[in-house]
Amino acid sequence: MVQSSILGFPRMGVNRDLKKATEAYWGGKLSQEDLLAEAKRLRLAHWKIQKDAGVDVIPSNDFALYDQVLAHIQDFGVAPPRYTKHGLNPVDEYFAMGRGHQKDGVDVQSLEMVKWFDSNYHYVKPTFQDNQTFKLNPSPKAVNEFNEAKEAGIITRPVIVGPVSFLHLGKADRDQKVDPIDLLEKLFPVYEELLTKLKAAGAETVQIDEPILVYDLPSKTKDAFKPTYQKFAALGDKIPKIVFATYFGDIVHNIDALPKDIHAVHVDLVRNPEQMDTVISALGPKTILSAGVVDGRNIWKVNFKTAIEKVEAAIQNIGKDRVIVATSSSLLHTPHTLASEKKLDPEIADWFSFASEKAVEVAVIAKAVTEGPASVREQLEANAKSVQARATSKRTNDPAVKERQSKIKASDFNRLSEFPTRIAAQQKSLNLPLFPTTTIGSFPQTKEIRIQRNKFTKGEITSEEYEKFIEKEIQEVVKVQEELDLDVYVHGEPERNDMVQYFGERLDGYAFTTHAWVQSYGSRCVRPPIVVGDISRPAPMTVKESKYAVSISKKPMKGMLTGPITCLRWSFPRDDVHQSVQAEQLALALRDEVVDLEAAGVFVIQVDEPALREGLPLRAGKEREAYLDWAVKSFRLSVSGVQDSTQIHSHFCYSEFQDFFHAIAALDADVLSIENSKSDAKLLKVFVDEAYPRHIGPGVYDIHSPRVPSEQEIKDRIGEMLVHLKPEQLWIDPDCGLKTRQWSETKAALTNMVNAAKFYREKY
Ligand code: GLN
Ligand code: ZN
Repeated sequence: MVQSSILGFPRMGVNRDLKKATEAYWGGKLSQEDLLAEAKRLRLAHWKIQKDAGVDVIPSNDFALYDQVLAHIQDFGVAPPRYTKHGLNPVDEYFAMGRGHQKDGVDVQSLEMVKWFDSNYHYVKPTFQDNQTFKLNPSPKAVNEFNEAKEAGIITRPVIVGPVSFLHLGKADRDQKVDPIDLLEKLFPVYEELLTKLKAAGAETVQIDEPILVYDLPSKTKDAFKPTYQKFAALGDKIPKIVFATYFGDIVHNIDALPKDIHAVHVDLVRNPEQMDTVISALGPKTILSAGVVDGRNIWKVNFKTAIEKVEAAIQNIGKDRVIVATSSSLLHTPHTLASEKKLDPEIADWFSFASEKAVEVAVIAKAVTEGPASVREQLEANAKSVQARATSKRTNDPAVKERQSKIKASDFNRLSEFPTRIAAQQKSLNLPLFPTTTIGSFPQTKEIRIQRNKFTKGEITSEEYEKFIEKEIQEVVKVQEELDLDVYVHGEPERNDMVQYFGERLDGYAFTTHAWVQSYGSRCVRPPIVVGDISRPAPMTVKESKYAVSISKKPMKGMLTGPITCLRWSFPRDDVHQSVQAEQLALALRDEVVDLEAAGVFVIQVDEPALREGLPLRAGKEREAYLDWAVKSFRLSVSGVQDSTQIHSHFCYSEFQDFFHAIAALDADVLSIENSKSDAKLLKVFVDEAYPRHIGPGVYDIHSPRVPSEQEIKDRIGEMLVHLKPEQLWIDPDCGLKTRQWSETKAALTNMVNAAKFYREKY
């Protein structure tokens, strides 16, 4: 019998229940006991969903109150001493590492949080001491949750972060020097202890996640896999059988690191179906292939026909008893259930499948290959119909968009002239001083703004009333900028709920959900819009607000757009056409917007691309170059329709450009603003080394904190920047948008910023 399995289930619950409970706990409105009871209720509910769907192998220990890596840090005794020394109870110590703790005389910052591979989920980075020791929590979460499911009558497969990945994904703590991978030998006994306990509790198999095998790895790390898993194999029946799980990429380049003596190997066959044959030929003689054929990263219904063919091909090769049907990765990256979407057009809803529906999909595929297609004929027929409907739907295919794409010319990617000619024309019309000051776009989004937007969405105020309100907000933002004496104004983005959703809602080809939340980090969830078809712009999206802002400003007003890559990366993309095609469509839509803004008298236009970097493929090489090529092209396509005298800005929330500087330069933006206040000003050296000729605004202060930087601090920062950059190149701006800040601190910080710029203006 071919089994079906799931690598992990979303934790939030049908109504973001976990978010509500944890936030209530943090706010002192829910007791710890009640929080834990709610977490237990959610785990049981999620196991039941999977069981009812007919899934054979259901995961446990995939749950976490905040993050699964953080839970592992705590259970393996890796919490740094600055957290453990206060005698906090385990739950509070855990949250202290996740989000910091400032209460009852304890004041610690959180551990660093970083993106989980190329997903929008963030994990807490383990930090190791030079003299790091490991010690298993006497009551390990993995064992407790296994027992909890067992009591409910479900024998689960616990999920554990693998030892090599755990170390590789971590780093030496603050001033420590340890290379984490050197700790492997010390770490192993704790895994042995945990696995032994799980076996004693009745776990037959465990899923050990080693996703780093999809990266380019240092040889020391790569070479660590085989001996480590040989040691596991040597433990024999003392521990459960191991399913070695990789996902988000292919492992072909690391295939010689794949342990042979192992129960099963899981690979992602949605991202990289072509790796299957190579992986199969590298398996040990009895090793099972866990075939990840149901997408854990996107919301599209599986295509049963192709998924079954894939699984059948594996069966042909190694036999029925050596294949498991699985999700490609954990379903953590998908929303809870499609059943909550009451407002979706039924035509489109029929194309989607969220976590609960994907559970059914793996079960159906397993049944189809075990008992034959006739056993699930109805499901297969319905699926074929909806796949066909999607492929041929008018909502998917817009001939006008395709026609326009086919007519794109090489010159559409280029501005009329080179930068020196452009900047001269821009200087003439904009007449900016040396060290021009500006901001990144948004100004504080006050409670009042959210209230009015809510009222408008609910139909409680008319669109005229809402527009009037927005105009009043813009007036205030303009007035503040006048008083601050900034040089290039922004309108403040009060009308935008979110920088991607706002554009998605105004574009054809997008769909929106009401409940499709996905965990981003801790209790934070995002609700990405979905690209369902060819994208086009039925009408201008931002012109009205920008035009109004221009009409009341005495100084240049910057128009503000979200770039094509960021729109795409922060949405669920289509899986039926390449992402480069979708980016190009977005670029064309934005190009029209840019041209319309220019026609409306907006002569400085910023196209934000904060997601450009996170879209970088996980491995260096051909794939990365290909991505950068189409990403850069789509940005250029979006901004190249304007005159030389119109100034194009772009913005990035990072400054580590070293590994792809050529792409940043190739964007050919007149002005780049980047986040820099917390990084070393030395990072700017790359601009000098590469003789970057255009203008740059490295953020001079951190906007993520309410702290007001002093004028002197900002002067010092600018001084450091001037070591590397030419004065005529340098813009003065904050790190990012000011949306999450309060007005008082914003005004104070910008006053100091403008004064610092004026100081240098005098000097040069
Ligand atoms: N223009 C956006 C803002 O200011 C940029 C946000 C971002 O880069 N994440 O809010
Ligand atoms: Zn930013």
